[in-house]
Amino acid sequence: MSYTIGKQKKIALIAHDNRKQAIIEWAIKNKEALGKHFLCGTGTTAKLIAKNTGLPIKEFKSGPMGGDEQIGASIVNGEVDFMVFFWDPLTSQPHDPDVKALLRISVLYDIPVAMSTSTADFLMKSQLIDEEYETHEIDYYNKIRKENF
Ligand code: PGA
Repeated sequence: MSYTIGKQKKIALIAHDNRKQAIIEWAIKNKEALGKHFLCGTGTTAKLIAKNTGLPIKEFKSGPMGGDEQIGASIVNGEVDFMVFFWDPLTSQPHDPDVKALLRISVLYDIPVAMSTSTADFLMKSQLIDEEYETHEIDYYNKIRKENF
């Protein structure tokens, strides 16, 4: 199974509180490149990025209120196909199970994910950022389940 990520990416932006300054700085630096794509994000992150860059960005619920889950569901539905998620490696979160679920879904659906500034820089500078790309989804039903049951 695969899915084509279009030339215009549907990018989700998420940052935990201690990482919000970092994602804002990154978004300002990459404003022009980000402006070519469709943006969405968890509530507070989306508001802050919109305020600091002027870019249009669809707001989901705040992360602790289910925003991560909404973005996970959007990945499943093909409505998000690229993610910049600056999670906090030093603080546990009330919604840690949601964070884990979101990271799992992003790997299952093989979307590009940046979890740090350097990775986000590398992704945005990749030639693939402006090209179509076929993902490599793990075919759970046909490969894993059918072979074993
Ligand atoms: P926030 O959510 O953007 O609403 O702060 C991010 C998160 O904590 O997952």
